[in-house]
Amino acid sequence: MSCPFCGGQPLRHIRAKGLYWYCLNCRQIVPKEFVEEETSKIVN
Ligand SMILES: [Zn+2]
Repeated sequence: MSCPFCGGQPLRHIRAKGLYWYCLNCRQIVPKEFVEEETSKIVN
């Protein structure tokens, strides 16, 4: 998957709340909604 903001490659992080993505390139958390489709492809 790629960052919806800059096209970079966000890193996947896991917290107590759950999974989230953080882009080092634009230094912001990528909302799960943006990557849900991509991750669901992998899971399924
Ligand atoms: Zn980014």
